[in-house]
Amino acid sequence: MNTRKSWLIAVFALVFLFIGISFLPTPVYLFAAFLAFAIGNAASKSGMGAAQPAMPAMSAAPLQPPTTTRVELPERPMPDSIPANLKCPSCGASVKPTDKVCAFCGSTLQPVLDLPEPAKLGGLAIGGSVRVVHPKKGELTFRVRGRLLFTELWQASHGPNVPWTPTGNYFAGFALEPAGYLLNWQDRFYIMDERRSLTDMDINRDFAPYARQFAQSNQTARVEFSYSGARWQMVDIGRFAIEFEDGEGSHLHKGAIGRFIHAGSGDGQALVIDDFQSGGSGGQDTLWRGFLIKETDIKI
Ligand SMILES: [Zn+2]
Repeated sequence: MNTRKSWLIAVFALVFLFIGISFLPTPVYLFAAFLAFAIGNAASKSGMGAAQPAMPAMSAAPLQPPTTTRVELPERPMPDSIPANLKCPSCGASVKPTDKVCAFCGSTLQPVLDLPEPAKLGGLAIGGSVRVVHPKKGELTFRVRGRLLFTELWQASHGPNVPWTPTGNYFAGFALEPAGYLLNWQDRFYIMDERRSLTDMDINRDFAPYARQFAQSNQTARVEFSYSGARWQMVDIGRFAIEFEDGEGSHLHKGAIGRFIHAGSGDGQALVIDDFQSGGSGGQDTLWRGFLIKETDIKI
């Protein structure tokens, strides 16, 4: 409605009120006055809408609502401070806050932090060494600098309102020296040589369409894509939360929640992509490139 029309209505209503007050019975007059006010109000509101041409452009922009992923994690009580120099009460050897058994004398300990055990590589301790048979470089010896404990998440049924909750499976990733990353996920083991930071734009362009296609097939379709000079096939996609971080050398931290994409090439190369949720619990979106190895290629 234009301004001129609004004014005409207002003038008409005013004239009607002046005439009405002289001869109409009070209830009818009040009703008419209310009606005039309602019309005037509606007219002024539609006038305001027309004065802001930016509105339709804004509502047309995002077709897809922002991600509404709900993640429900159990509360895990953490002590306010973790003593730095814990000793085994039996033999006096240094122990870690998460140790359930003394590595030195074998006596049972009451861990300060009662963390779940990862499915595999639970015996790989920070500061310890690990030998890995690398498919290209042969046997390598690494020192373990840091550890990430991942909680695997799942959804009981598909849908934006169904929360993601822990499956009860925990997997571990290890920051290594010289630079490397050792990861177990389900029955797969990865040794990663190369790390790259990704942006949401990188992920949306290079991986998201294929991940979506793979998800739509319930992870049964053969979905291939090209990336960084090689041909890759989708292996697994899913969600995780980082339950705990130990040691150093990792750029990812406790509390981060994200999605992962695991892809493989025909010659044993592997990609691991971590796409973190934006917001407080975010982590740096990361791509690791390396190799799929066998469990027996890892010697603790
Ligand atoms: Zn001991």
